[in-house]
Amino acid sequence: MSLIVQKYGGSSVANPDRIKRVAERVAGYKKKGHSLVVVVSALGDTTDDLLDLSGQITTSPSRRELDMLLSTGEQISMSLLAMALHENKCDAISFTGGQVGIVTDSSYTRARILDISTGRIREELKKKRVVIVAGFQGVNPRQEITTLGRGGSDLTAVALAKALKADACEIYTDVEGIFTTDPRLVKDAQKIKKISYEEMLELASSGAQVMQSRSIEVAGKYDIPIHVRSSFSYKEGTWIVKEDRSMEDVLIRGVSMNKNEAKLTVSGVPNRPGVAAAIFKSLADSGINVDMIIQNIGKMAATDISFTVPKTEASHAVNSLKKISKKIGLKEITQDLNVAKVSVVGIGMRSHAGVAAAMFEVLGQNKINIEMISTSEIKISCVVKKTDAEKAVKLLHDKFELGKKK
Ligand code: ASP
Ligand code: MG
Repeated sequence: MSLIVQKYGGSSVANPDRIKRVAERVAGYKKKGHSLVVVVSALGDTTDDLLDLSGQITTSPSRRELDMLLSTGEQISMSLLAMALHENKCDAISFTGGQVGIVTDSSYTRARILDISTGRIREELKKKRVVIVAGFQGVNPRQEITTLGRGGSDLTAVALAKALKADACEIYTDVEGIFTTDPRLVKDAQKIKKISYEEMLELASSGAQVMQSRSIEVAGKYDIPIHVRSSFSYKEGTWIVKEDRSMEDVLIRGVSMNKNEAKLTVSGVPNRPGVAAAIFKSLADSGINVDMIIQNIGKMAATDISFTVPKTEASHAVNSLKKISKKIGLKEITQDLNVAKVSVVGIGMRSHAGVAAAMFEVLGQNKINIEMISTSEIKISCVVKKTDAEKAVKLLHDKFELGKKK
């Protein structure tokens, strides 16, 4: 029989009733004879609530203490799920990340997994128990609790699937899989049957909030097929797998939207070597993640540079640039929070020309102004006004014929 790693996200374990439902599901798999390792996220919005609590105490919490706090969310769900399984006459035992030997580096709040010792889990599986593991957490080599970045339970699941050489890795969520775009936005969005790691990674990093990017990276690196599916049904979801020939036939796999970025513009940037380096070094030193960058053509001695950062980091970015602005002679730093990024993603782009032209054309014909553009081999992103974003998504979804056939 097979060894299955299942991960249940916050919405799947949001309250006692849902936890009971998950327990029934897990018990059902167990009855069929499978060995199960179940990773859980914190109940519903618990992690956000915990962050909020710390925010009421301080605006600059110690990152170690933040991890002590955030890791408690998953401990609640793991123990409740164990109890619910016991109610189903299913033997189960829950563990923290540290207890099952998930060792990470010491970058609190975004630690990387260094090693997983699977001894304890295997021992319990041998006893025919369901092993429940708190997602999103580990310990550093000194046994200090760390967390793996927001959405990190996905990473726990993928890393465990790899370490245990599991036969399957299932990510349970409240939607039926990955869609061609957000079905709440576009009614005829379709569930994708199969998507490559690369496409999924691009979609995730450009706004599709189904799985943590890092977890997809790791899955791709070790070729661990992932089945994203709903905890509310038994329907087949979406498989994230290594790309194969047949997948290139589809030009665009999906359209995504991200409203969580801000556009910053630095004007009066002296047009000489080393200035861009100074600007982005100061941002990097402040731990700010820059996404798109454009530099306007400098007709004169000075030029403009615009770039996007996560909205939550915008004011931090402005402050850190203000610190260096005198020294390098920047004129003005402005931020625009009313932007959104829309992206089209597909490995078919590699072998088909004209995707960018088609994208720009449909936006242009519909009077949507493009403020920034960036591309990768399999993605084209445009920054547009926030108020235009949803319309842009619908237009692009139509243009590339991603909807259900009418
Ligand atoms: N509970 C954590 C979060 O909300 C981890 C996760 O859900 O995967 O980010
Ligand atoms: Mg969560």
